[in-house]
Amino acid sequence: MPVSSVFDQLESLLPHVQKPVQYVGGELNSVVKDWDSVSAHWVLMYPDAYEVGLPNQGVAILYEVLNEREDTLCERTYSVWTDLEKLMRRDGVPQFTVDAHRPVGAFDVFGLSFATELGYTNMLTAIDLAGIPLHAADRTLDHPFIVAGGHAAFNPEPIADFIDIAILGDGEEAVIALTEILVQWKSEGRPGGRDEFLIRLARTGGFYIPRFYEVEYLEDGRIRRVTPSHPEAPWRVSKHTVMDLDNWPYPKAPLVPMAETVHERASVEIFRGCTRGCRFCQAGMITRPVRERSIETVGKMVQNAVEVTGFEEVGLLSLSSADHSEIQGIAKDLADIYEGTHTSLSLPSTRVDAFNIDLANELTRNGRRSGLTFAPEGGSERIRAVINKMVTEEDLIRTVTAAYSAGWRQVKLYFMCGLPTETDEDVLQIAKLAKEVIRAGREVTGSRDIRCTVSIGGFVPKPHTPFQWAAQLDHETTDHRLHLLRDEIRQDRNYGKAIGYRYHDGKPGIVEGLLSRGDRRVGKVIETVWRNGARFDGWQEHFSFTNWMEAADAALADTAVDVAWFTTRERQHDEVLPWDHLDSGLDKEWLWEDWQDSLNEESVEDCRWTPCFDCGVCDQMSTSIQIGPTQGTVLPMPVLKKSLSVTHGS
Ligand code: SF4
Repeated sequence: MPVSSVFDQLESLLPHVQKPVQYVGGELNSVVKDWDSVSAHWVLMYPDAYEVGLPNQGVAILYEVLNEREDTLCERTYSVWTDLEKLMRRDGVPQFTVDAHRPVGAFDVFGLSFATELGYTNMLTAIDLAGIPLHAADRTLDHPFIVAGGHAAFNPEPIADFIDIAILGDGEEAVIALTEILVQWKSEGRPGGRDEFLIRLARTGGFYIPRFYEVEYLEDGRIRRVTPSHPEAPWRVSKHTVMDLDNWPYPKAPLVPMAETVHERASVEIFRGCTRGCRFCQAGMITRPVRERSIETVGKMVQNAVEVTGFEEVGLLSLSSADHSEIQGIAKDLADIYEGTHTSLSLPSTRVDAFNIDLANELTRNGRRSGLTFAPEGGSERIRAVINKMVTEEDLIRTVTAAYSAGWRQVKLYFMCGLPTETDEDVLQIAKLAKEVIRAGREVTGSRDIRCTVSIGGFVPKPHTPFQWAAQLDHETTDHRLHLLRDEIRQDRNYGKAIGYRYHDGKPGIVEGLLSRGDRRVGKVIETVWRNGARFDGWQEHFSFTNWMEAADAALADTAVDVAWFTTRERQHDEVLPWDHLDSGLDKEWLWEDWQDSLNEESVEDCRWTPCFDCGVCDQMSTSIQIGPTQGTVLPMPVLKKSLSVTHGS
């Protein structure tokens, strides 16, 4: 049956809402396929507004991977702002895709990518507007399967009631596997209903089906155990890891937005994973091991992205871009190619100790000096040992001095507040560091026109990290420390005016903490707060801490637990964690030992350059570190592609 567009219904509402262009689709490189010519229909969502969702790389990659299949079509949907939501509810307009304005409820699979847990209420809005029952248990063959992916899917327990499937790790191969199983099941006439399809997925060991697991609790509120309730559901579900990224050079045709978005640039991911071992960093832990794209592929992807989008900036993405074994060659070769053009390069994330003056010079050869951001994360040497961010004050000063002398006038430093064992003094050290940065910058440039912005956010302990057992700092103490730091910076007559200070209060962090380390009982909190009107929780102007706390009080009233229990409570070694049955590859004992090392302020090296220290990932996932150098070049005559050299691992 053809599925018709709802654009006619939508069109009359658009003059009455803000930024209507975000809902019209038709972007350069977007794809619309004939509904009846394919067997599998996917809709993907980044559960935030178009301006945040469109640049999301995960969705962009999977959109292409799926649309490249002849038997599949894939469209996108974004969160509609509250003004349009109201009108859609009034007129009965369902959640729609921006590609062909088809109703989301008509698709086979509705996949959501969560970079942060604060998108959960937006997911509920979209499900509800699509006319899909909120609870997976109430869905029938008429409804799509709802799939959660992205980093938050490594603990999807708080949204277990609302999703059908969670995919851990890289999505490229996983969405193909899911599609093949779906197409087969549909071609057989959908035998056994929804359950049969879900069983086929569960059997592979790589798809988590929450309803096939039972959670039992102890009287004190902790989890007693999580057990499969279906004989074919595995005890542990594995993450997916794509090896050899050169075989997956996506996105090949990045979308060019119709409306303004947070990043107006093409992005090329130069490697995936990070083994630096920063203990707070969930992204680094769950994406191990490091897998580099070769310099040749990076070069081709950059050239292609510039050609097919017309963007004038290309961001070389990864968790720490200057760590690529051939970053110098990449930057130099690309700077050669684009010299004299309007195309510029940027490294959106750079470690203090990996940045150097040559790289700085290459990146600015085209005359553009966008801001530089470094993330020492902790203000004192002691706290940096606790978090394993082994950046010395000397490193930082050397790096920013290189940047200032290469012509930058503005450096942004990112820190966290509320790290385990932190004291007021650790946070006040940030002011000292910032002043030293300005002093060194003035000295090297001979100018007082030097600025440094300190940006600081509250730390939220995350699953699958050594800090998964840690107590989160309460928001009152977080705010107190942030204010102490603000006063310390502002009161300084000599440097205060040269230092910008940006901070977020501690309350959103507590909600994020509840959702990050929550279990299935938190689902009721999410549903309650959503029913009470919560939307766009990642946006300061929409977020209401009071609403969340009231919803939590009501939803957890009959349980032995509360918000503090989930957030500011330290967990013990023997506690069953809600995500223990979800396998990121990291050995739980290794994480615990790393947590103990952290408390002893002991550091751990990067396994890219030292022997493997058995975190468990490579053995468990049958993967290995893939790093160069390949000795290749980007242009003018790319050498024949050599294999990435594979070093230690399993
Ligand atoms: S298993 Fe070894 S080589 Fe692989 S990521 Fe862990 S420490 Fe590194």
